[in-house]
Amino acid sequence: MEKVVLLKCEEYNTKLIEEKLREGFDLLGGDKFLRELIPYNSKVLLKPNMLAIEEAGSPVITNFNVFEAVIKIIKDYSSNISFGDSPGFGEAKKAAEKSGLLKVAEKYDVKFEDFKESTHVKLDESILCKSWTVAKAPYEADVLITLPKLKTHAMAYFTGAVKNQFGCIPGTLKATWHTRMPKANNFCKMLLDLNSLVNTSFAILDGIVAMEGNGPKSGKPKKMNTMIMGKSLTAVDSTAVRLIGYDNPLDIPVLKEAYDHNWGTVLTKDIQVLGEDIESMKSKDFELCRKGGNFYFISPGVTNFLRDLIAPDPSLIAEKCISCKRCQEVCPEKPRVIKMVNNKGKLQPTWNMKECIRCFCCQELCPCGAIETKYSILGKMLKMNKR
Ligand code: SF4
Ligand code: SF4
Repeated sequence: MEKVVLLKCEEYNTKLIEEKLREGFDLLGGDKFLRELIPYNSKVLLKPNMLAIEEAGSPVITNFNVFEAVIKIIKDYSSNISFGDSPGFGEAKKAAEKSGLLKVAEKYDVKFEDFKESTHVKLDESILCKSWTVAKAPYEADVLITLPKLKTHAMAYFTGAVKNQFGCIPGTLKATWHTRMPKANNFCKMLLDLNSLVNTSFAILDGIVAMEGNGPKSGKPKKMNTMIMGKSLTAVDSTAVRLIGYDNPLDIPVLKEAYDHNWGTVLTKDIQVLGEDIESMKSKDFELCRKGGNFYFISPGVTNFLRDLIAPDPSLIAEKCISCKRCQEVCPEKPRVIKMVNNKGKLQPTWNMKECIRCFCCQELCPCGAIETKYSILGKMLKMNKR
């Protein structure tokens, strides 16, 4: 059984939140648990939700009191703590300042990371995506503790512990993922891969004031008086969605993909909820939001047009190709995006770019390095200017 702790906390008061979180850690094993989670002086990165430049106390972002309480607890285990995010909207530093997070961080000598510096890395054991450009700070942290906000999400229905790491994609590169993977199933697989890549270690979800309705940015604050903590991101999210009114966690696209790919614990029967009684904490009138299931920002046509404009394409280096068909075999999209066609007496791949999701499995797994990525001029500009 995967353990999560459900806590009741009725106000944003650092002292009270700290007490509650300490009770939560005690239920998980106390000091021993924390020492295993945070090996002595390891490099810890806190990843709050800083979706946009928002006032301190806004329900869009992780509350600074929760952030401070977490720091007060973990500083006994490491003096090497930093925090950061790459907001979907606006400059990271401004978001950190306005939210009150930066002021708290300075008080405890916690370093701010703006996630501008990126690194190109591979993830061999992926569900979908093997090739990544990701912010260096979360990738290089020893321990990544995510501090998501409990919110509705028009396209994903819910955003919590798993989705919070989308901020580890630097700046405007986030837009290329949205255009590459507008379908919810692929986008959610990508989110799971991203969490494997940055190895998110623990989640503390801020649901004291959650967001209902038109989330993740334009919904209404909803007092839920809760925090949920645990090692399994999917178990934390699965518990959170039960609180807001979903009987079946598989109704949430990212949890469905996680379950289908055996990524973390999702089902209620496999999760032991410690702390508060979940039935007594459930909201009976939480306004859910289920507009999409897909991530088309405007319309499928426009999204695909943007994708073709900014996302990189796989491209063949013909002289290196040995016609092994490996690229065609590993392509996850059905019907097949790659066709082998005769080119001057040699079978070589061609791509149907209208169907290609740019996961680059073909490029990663070509045994001859015969596939490269090609950016359009606009794509190159976005890649260079990641903010
Ligand atoms: S995997 Fe590489 S070498 Fe094999 S057919 Fe595809 S491009 Fe050619
Ligand atoms: S063709 Fe290559 S990049 Fe496109 S979907 Fe298939 S494996 Fe991914």
